[in-house]
Amino acid sequence: MVAFSKRISMVKPSATLTINARASELKSQGVEVISLAVGQPDLPPPKSVLDGAREAIERVMTKYTPAAGLPEVLDAVCEYYNRFYDAGAKRENVIITNGGKQGLFNLMQILVDPGDEVLIPAPYWLSYPAMVILAGGVPKIVPTDPENNFMTSPSELEKHITEKTKILILNTPSNPTGCHYAQKQFDEICEFALKKGIFIISDEIYDQLIYPPAEPTSASKWFKKYPDKVAIVNGLAKSFAVPGWRIGYVISDSTVIKNLSKLQGQSTSNVCSIAQIAALKGLLGDLSFLEENRKKFLERRNYILKRINSIKGISCPEPMGAFYVFPKVDGLYTDEINNSTKLCEYLLDKAHVALVPGAAFGDDRCIRFSYAVDISVLERAMDQVEKALREL
Ligand code: GLU
Repeated sequence: MVAFSKRISMVKPSATLTINARASELKSQGVEVISLAVGQPDLPPPKSVLDGAREAIERVMTKYTPAAGLPEVLDAVCEYYNRFYDAGAKRENVIITNGGKQGLFNLMQILVDPGDEVLIPAPYWLSYPAMVILAGGVPKIVPTDPENNFMTSPSELEKHITEKTKILILNTPSNPTGCHYAQKQFDEICEFALKKGIFIISDEIYDQLIYPPAEPTSASKWFKKYPDKVAIVNGLAKSFAVPGWRIGYVISDSTVIKNLSKLQGQSTSNVCSIAQIAALKGLLGDLSFLEENRKKFLERRNYILKRINSIKGISCPEPMGAFYVFPKVDGLYTDEINNSTKLCEYLLDKAHVALVPGAAFGDDRCIRFSYAVDISVLERAMDQVEKALREL
């Protein structure tokens, strides 16, 4: 057999995608599995993005676009971000990527040299450490606690800083916890990191999925002040409900964007031109659906949180955004089922509910439920989970 690179053998497959595939496989075998595993909205996308895609097909937009994206799409991202966050972004500050995921991956590729350390507060989205490792870097995990709403702080980060620390990844509201930094708290962390000469990557993919009284938080003002020290990553997957269309973007200094563009030009080239026009129409279209979606997700969050917190041995901080809850379940562990992976396997077999073990996100005390499904599905899933847990 061919010898595979050391890099690829150092990372595991994505647990979210693997579990989702396993749930689909079981479904195809006739097992009625409810998947609360993957984080993708079930709500329909707004008409604007669908019209945009149709328009691109009608215009027979089949040619390559610039690797960074069509100029008018870059302008649309600027208009959208400047409107929400007064980011002061210009066309040269933006690149369109194959989902926020490629934006993050490519940032690691252009910023990280072997041995460079990247601070990642845990629980983290499971692909961050893998992306750092694939770039030859070292993920430095900063643990947090559910009692403290999984929040980190300058003093906690300080403990993990060395002379090799290069980047800090922030993600609010968070996947997998749904916990959210208010702008003031977030600013304190950014200010601290920037003073230490640490580059900030702010993953803002869930910024529009925020529940009152919480408000969206962004690194925009720091980008505006120090563009070459901050990169903002976002996309349409979650807020515009088009995860499969792979439309993400990065906002940063023009030098960062040029390097991202060089990498994209030598690897994947441009994001699908049809998806780009869909993004343009979405970003500049009617955004009233955002509020409607927030209301629906809030209702689901309230429902699942009530159900989860009523189970003995489980506790869960109140998530203020995204569509995840990340309860602490280690109070339920037995001699046999003594970690989050085994508990998720048990719940898949016994309750036919697919969930993601906290271990994949750097916290083996917890498991992740995605509530991006109809409330009737949540009700069924929670009934089945509760019953299975009683039989533990
Ligand atoms: N980010 C989503 C999740 O955590 C989508 C799947 C993935 O790319 O990880 O479920």
